[in-house]
Amino acid sequence: MTTKRKDGINTRLAHIGNDPRAFYGFVNPPVVHASTVLFPDAETMKSHNQKYTYGTRGTPTTDALAEAMDELEGSAGTIIVPSGLAAVTVPLLAFLAAGDHVLIVDSVYGPTRRFADSMLKGFGVEVEYYDPHIGSGISALMKSNTKVVFTESPGSNTFEMQDIPAIAAVARQKGAIVMMDNTWATPVFFRPLEHGVDISIHAATKYPGGHSDVLLGTVSANENCWKRLHDAFITLGTCAGPDDVYQVLRGLRTMGVRLERHQESALEIAHWLEGQPGVAQVLHPALPSHPGYEIWKRDFSGASGLFSFVFTGGGDHEANAFLNALKFFGLGYSWGGFESLAVQVSLADRTIAKGNYPGPVIRLQIGLEDVEDLKADIANGLKAAGLG
Ligand SMILES: *Cc1c(COP(=O)(O)O)cnc(C)c1O
Repeated sequence: MTTKRKDGINTRLAHIGNDPRAFYGFVNPPVVHASTVLFPDAETMKSHNQKYTYGTRGTPTTDALAEAMDELEGSAGTIIVPSGLAAVTVPLLAFLAAGDHVLIVDSVYGPTRRFADSMLKGFGVEVEYYDPHIGSGISALMKSNTKVVFTESPGSNTFEMQDIPAIAAVARQKGAIVMMDNTWATPVFFRPLEHGVDISIHAATKYPGGHSDVLLGTVSANENCWKRLHDAFITLGTCAGPDDVYQVLRGLRTMGVRLERHQESALEIAHWLEGQPGVAQVLHPALPSHPGYEIWKRDFSGASGLFSFVFTGGGDHEANAFLNALKFFGLGYSWGGFESLAVQVSLADRTIAKGNYPGPVIRLQIGLEDVEDLKADIANGLKAAGLG
């Protein structure tokens, strides 16, 4: 069912991608496990005009999720890939070739940097990192062979906000395409294509999946970039498994209400942390004290549940003591699930956006637990770190 833009976000999340009449009235689409698709006769097989032709090229299950993402992102088409990392690498492979130059934000997700520094460089692509606060100043870095500007806002782990409209305006004028890793905001809180971005990337593993049990990625493109993105997807064979696609479609139904709770709890804890002993700074874009607050307020309609805070001093010893004292916050990678997580951030790979932090940086994913329990847990951790 396709709903109109004017319908509320939770209304759309409840219905997008579903077409019950196409499946005997069942509310949800079937999970189609498929490699082979049969043709009724040789003529149809040779004509290339049967809707489904092979498992790697799409099924009613992948179509349902792609259609839902197109509705949320306002995109012309969406590919679904096996992980969030694949949602980064496939579009970069699609739009870059030997001799091209790519600009990547320095606060990018770590594995994106690893891919750029190893494979892209190995293929002869010139990789350059830029300051997340560069804004329209990016024009000074644009070269005649700059094909892609890769953005991520807020940045991974340190949450620098990028002026996406300003960057996109420069890139468009210079003929480069703009990609954005939009995982933090989800399309519920930010719609990149409405701000000049050409390709919006999601680790659907995070909030869309929402339960720490699925890996999946989506890449949504505007009309201009869709064909090239889709061709690369088919060429690479990076299709996702049907059960995972179904789980993410299922996750979307509750993503709006989950995000409301993640947002509310995370903001409450972020505000509270600002007044706690041992805490120098809280890196959450929706706090008025954050340097990116004005951009966040201008462009985003909400904030998710992931942010960091900085100790007033100390090092690994204090960070370990904090982490080891936590009871409800699990120590683990990824985020976007129902449960809270904590991790000490490493900024060792940064070349520009190193920040000037007086102590360890701790990233928190605020889950759906009761906020008073989470606060008590964090207060215990801070006490154990002994910085107060
Ligand atoms: C987690 C993450 C990814 C990668 O997602 P996986 O599904 O874990 O591969 C990509 N980008 C960002 C910003 C992420 O946080």
